[in-house]
Amino acid sequence: MSESRAWQLVRRPHGEPTDEDARLVEVTLPEPGPGEVLVRNTFLSVDPYMRGRMNDVTSYVPPFALDAPMDGGAVGVVEQVDGSATNGPGHDVTVGDTVLHNLGWRTHAILPGRHVRVVDTEVDGAPVPPQAYLGVLGMPGLTAYAGLLRIADFHEGDRVFVSAAAGAVGSLVGQIARLRGAALVVGSAGGPEKAGWLVDEARFDQGLDYRAQPIRTSLRQAAPDGIDVYFDNVGGDHLEAAIGVLRQNGRAALCGAVAQYNDTEPPVAPRNLAMVVGKRLTLRGFIVSDHGDLRPDFEREVGGWLRDGRIVWRETVVDGIDNAFGAFRSLLTGGNTGKMLVRL
Ligand code: NDP
Repeated sequence: MSESRAWQLVRRPHGEPTDEDARLVEVTLPEPGPGEVLVRNTFLSVDPYMRGRMNDVTSYVPPFALDAPMDGGAVGVVEQVDGSATNGPGHDVTVGDTVLHNLGWRTHAILPGRHVRVVDTEVDGAPVPPQAYLGVLGMPGLTAYAGLLRIADFHEGDRVFVSAAAGAVGSLVGQIARLRGAALVVGSAGGPEKAGWLVDEARFDQGLDYRAQPIRTSLRQAAPDGIDVYFDNVGGDHLEAAIGVLRQNGRAALCGAVAQYNDTEPPVAPRNLAMVVGKRLTLRGFIVSDHGDLRPDFEREVGGWLRDGRIVWRETVVDGIDNAFGAFRSLLTGGNTGKMLVRL
């Protein structure tokens, strides 16, 4: 038997989540049953989509149940293994393995061995930090790769704009576009520090601080000849601004709409949707889990760039399970640069 501490949602947030919406509880875990493993989590993923799961609405992923542990991406170390635990043919899980799985929001988890993925902590002799599998080498990284290359059909020479560009997904979108030969890479972020980081370290052509002036104004100045591709993480005014500058036959990958996740009323923007017709635009939504077939390409190409030092990535690390819900609240108001993580 082992002890775990886990976060539960106790009521559905109205607007911005508050500390009263969730609680941290102690749970005694049983011994791992047949085929199960006990994992001590070392990093928890904090993701914007979790806000949607706090609402009682039908979506592509079920809502969190009230008064039950929430879940989400995590990496950890296997501490105990039932004799028959395996995550697939030829991939036995053993004590000490570093694994990626979906029982985050807690310190320890028991789950079937086939539900964990053993990850490499070293590739070609170079160490890989385990938490990279929650960010640049994980779900957010694949989201950037699939969204830009498949959904937005990016081609060399395209002019690209990405919103929430200093975040986990956005920072990679701009860098992939750059390395694949974009003619222009523009990103937007909240505040001068993040906007500066985009240019100084992530090699974007321009970083727009959307808090300093309306995004429709700064985007027009940054892309006077228009853009071919928009990668939308924000929705609302950003999507409206992008529709305004997209060139004929432009494409937008609709990845997320973080600006409206806490909204209690329907958004007012984009007000210029009719321009989609005249400009022959393609606006296409997507969910990363439908694009797992791209994972080998993604790992080869982005993994290679990482090893060569051609991609920079950031993470914002909050320490301690006690602070996990606070980290989540902070994510929704821009408290992170790069991937938001909780370290245990
Ligand atoms: P980020 O690391 O980008 O963190 C969220 C960021 O959103 C914050 O850092 C903040 O940055 C920005 N933000 C918050 N409120 C606003 C606002 N009102 N206006 C503009 N920006 C705002 O998160 P991820 O990289 O994990 O996710 C990015 C997007 O991708 C989200 O919309 C998410 O839901 C989506 N997503 C979609 C997936 C899919 O399968 N379709 C998979 C994974 C993610 P700032 O300081 O710049 O404001």
